[in-house]
Amino acid sequence: MAKKNVYYFAAGKADGKAEMKNLLGGKGANLAEMCNIGIPVPAGFTITTEMCTEYYRNNKKLPQSLTKEVNAAMAKVEKAMGKKFGGAKNPLLISVRSGARKSMPGMMDTVLNVGLTSKTIPGLIAITDNERFVYDAYRRLIMMYADVVMEKAAGLELPEGEGVRIQMEEAMEKMKKEKGYEFDTELTAEDLKKLANEFKAIVKKVIGQPFPDDAQKQLWGGIKAVFQSWNGKRAIEYRRIEKIPADWGTAVNVQTMVFGNTGDDSATGVAFTRDPATGDNKFYGEWLVNAQGEDVVAGTRTPSPLNKDTKSEHSRHLLSLEEQNPKIYKQLEKIRNKLEKHYKDMLDIEFTIENNTLWMLQCRVGKRTGTAAVRMAVDMATERLINRTTAIMRVAPVQLDELLHPMLDPAAERDAEVVAKGLPAGPGGGVGQAVFTADDAAAWAQKGKKVILIRNETSPEDVHGMHVSEAILTAKGGMTSHAALVARGWGKCCIVGCGSLQISARDKKATAGDITINEGDWISMNGTLGVVYLSSLPVVPAAPERNKWYKTLMTWVDAARQMKVRTNADSPPDAAQAIAFGAEGIGLTRTEHMFFDPKRIVHMREMILAENEETRRKAVMKLLPFQKEDFTGILKTMAGKPVTIRLLDPPLHEFVTLDDEQVKELSEQINVSVAHIKARIAQLHELNPMLGHRGCRLGIAYPEITEMQARAILEAAAELTKKKVKVMPEIMIPLVGHPNEFINQEAVIRRVAGEVQKKYKVRLNYMVGTMIEIPRAALVADRIAEHAEFFSFGTNDLTQMGFGFSRDDIGGFLPAYLAKKILPEDPFQSLDQEGIGQLVQFGVERGRSTRPALKCGICGEHGGDPESVRFCHRVGLDYVSCSPFRVPIARMAAAQAAIEWPRKAAAKPKAKAKAKAKAKAKAKAKRK
Ligand code: ADP
Ligand code: MG
Ligand code: MG
Repeated sequence: MAKKNVYYFAAGKADGKAEMKNLLGGKGANLAEMCNIGIPVPAGFTITTEMCTEYYRNNKKLPQSLTKEVNAAMAKVEKAMGKKFGGAKNPLLISVRSGARKSMPGMMDTVLNVGLTSKTIPGLIAITDNERFVYDAYRRLIMMYADVVMEKAAGLELPEGEGVRIQMEEAMEKMKKEKGYEFDTELTAEDLKKLANEFKAIVKKVIGQPFPDDAQKQLWGGIKAVFQSWNGKRAIEYRRIEKIPADWGTAVNVQTMVFGNTGDDSATGVAFTRDPATGDNKFYGEWLVNAQGEDVVAGTRTPSPLNKDTKSEHSRHLLSLEEQNPKIYKQLEKIRNKLEKHYKDMLDIEFTIENNTLWMLQCRVGKRTGTAAVRMAVDMATERLINRTTAIMRVAPVQLDELLHPMLDPAAERDAEVVAKGLPAGPGGGVGQAVFTADDAAAWAQKGKKVILIRNETSPEDVHGMHVSEAILTAKGGMTSHAALVARGWGKCCIVGCGSLQISARDKKATAGDITINEGDWISMNGTLGVVYLSSLPVVPAAPERNKWYKTLMTWVDAARQMKVRTNADSPPDAAQAIAFGAEGIGLTRTEHMFFDPKRIVHMREMILAENEETRRKAVMKLLPFQKEDFTGILKTMAGKPVTIRLLDPPLHEFVTLDDEQVKELSEQINVSVAHIKARIAQLHELNPMLGHRGCRLGIAYPEITEMQARAILEAAAELTKKKVKVMPEIMIPLVGHPNEFINQEAVIRRVAGEVQKKYKVRLNYMVGTMIEIPRAALVADRIAEHAEFFSFGTNDLTQMGFGFSRDDIGGFLPAYLAKKILPEDPFQSLDQEGIGQLVQFGVERGRSTRPALKCGICGEHGGDPESVRFCHRVGLDYVSCSPFRVPIARMAAAQAAIEWPRKAAAKPKAKAKAKAKAKAKAKAKRK
């Protein structure tokens, strides 16, 4: 039998069903499903997505067999509706609607009222006794058809303002003005008739062809236009962004028209089965009396609220459907309940009322905010509509972001003036007065002012100013620039790479086009979207701990996941914040961040500039009390939860990028000559610092650094242990590539540990492990694991060295790589599972081959990226570590991964699992 290309649907029965989305598109499949469950849907049929693919394979021709199938389906529709398509007496009108597997809003317009011709118009007027309505439908058909079929689908690219639609809109406006009308509904039958003629003249003039006065021609023109639209500019662009494959194709839905524009007994509307913004279990929607589909969304008339619950300040005075037509409203509400019970999700629906009869035209799973997603998931599980596992899967991990940051008030945002757009590096909202240097930020903040720091780009020297700022804005840099990393770590609002900004730190101003931001001007930033506004907008606070739905959902999440979630934190407040967000330990404390404090950096520089071991040791030891204080604070805050502390990592010269003024100052402070300092700085200069003297290479050259840091950590641990505070430090040696590097540094640490334990007379709980961030380390992981007690995959450096991409210079070529699809995404943001991921997987396997209980985790940006977290679960990591504000996101991603790929053995005690495996093997052997 020939393949079926056309699927019929009508109330009570349909050839298709909801599960057939791939073949029928989302709209077609759901229309069929609604028919099957007895919801009133105007009869029609769906032409499959496969036909779309075939259309393109066939040089944009439709097979003869399709005509037959369409004719047969049309005959069924005519029978069901008691009307005839193209008939003079009781003509059937149809809509031609697109519908891909995934909804692609704005990709393709629907053509309504197809089938109106000089032959059918009189018949329709006779049967409806409503000339005005018929000509209203007719002028709409001409506009939509000319725009969608004759212009867009035909590939005509008319200059801005010369397209048919705009010219027709202008003609209509002109007529309304001449007649003194405010609303479209005031146009009379005569007006509309005249307008239709004007529209036809515009078609002829602009397109050079007449508007087809033949129902069949209109039908096939519409069908082809929908297929054609699949490869329209808008659709291609949309698919690129949404990563929708080109070979999916779109379906075409041909459906009996029902009319919301026949008079005051008719209407059209859209609704959500629950509030999509808050998640509140309230029917939420808008409707318009005497109108056709597009009017509600087009914004030409202000829609009325569906019910009391939907009324807002602006629509309080408008009559709701609930008030105006309680009978129909009740019917609609019943359908709402039926649909939710059936689909077990919040739906977005479209309906039309024709002469007091309700028809459903569309339903699909509705888009929702993060806040709403969480609330609906928990509510629906509580209502037993779904189970807890489904509830967890319902929330995309990144949606939680929204609950964790204060945001700009969305209502105020709509009316605010946009100054510039950049990359959304740190989410949430920020409002403050513009300042242009870190010192100014600090000084203003000291006076209690709220500031936003605007820089070309930031460096570690700006950190004090960044920290006190409400938000950070940079003209340069990408999503992994210094500003972005630091801001995300703090959960601070940040926009980077705002290229249209010209910043002058000297003049303390920035310009974007003809807008100037002067020091002290109020600006607001939406870091979730990357938009900067020139005014002070109100902010709505985030308080996830006060959100009962969030709290409930996260307890389910924690019960489901099998991987721990830690945080990257360098200070006790960060650590405390992360614990509040559910962190179970610290996966990375970077000790170098601790050195940028003005009080400490002097000693750091003194150490770096030291000529010999003796002076260096002296300088280093001045840092000991500071470090000890830091570690005491963090270990105490974490109260026995594991804390991974990384020994000094960055190239030394990063601490001594100084201008002449600063060199002079330093020279006085540490009593070393200017010439000497300059010579030493020159000596430290490296061509490739990221591959230079850094990481464990520092500790190997200057063991006193390692010794001091180990002592600070272990003495802090010892003192706390004596005070009965539980501690669990994990000392991490960075940038190991050869086992001997590890062995060398471990020896220093173990020696210090022995000394400290003796001095304090305590036995210390601690571990020594390493970061796996050099490809070679992953390859010899078995040998390293003979000595290292834990691995933490430093996937930032691993990506850098695995790809050979300098993290700091990637901005030069990454945009081209993404545009040309050489890489699917920034590998520093989402782990390259195919390549770098193999290094991780291999490292884990190798490492555990010599040390089965080896604790493995990941730190670095990827630890907070949901896709990367899923990967970490699959390769058997014990934990992921991410910035405090990503912790809930990582917990959610870990739970979803555990649901999708449960780790059976890990969930049970080892012995039990073994016994079970044995039994299984036995049973298998028996079966054979
Ligand atoms: P989109 O995919 O952009 O939502 P639709 O195919 O749903 O496009 O069409 C847009 C609107 O046109 C619908 O919301 C509905 O109001 C109207 N419409 C479509 N088909 C019909 C029909 N058969 N009868 C009445 N109105 C229709
Ligand atoms: Mg629609
Ligand atoms: Mg590193």
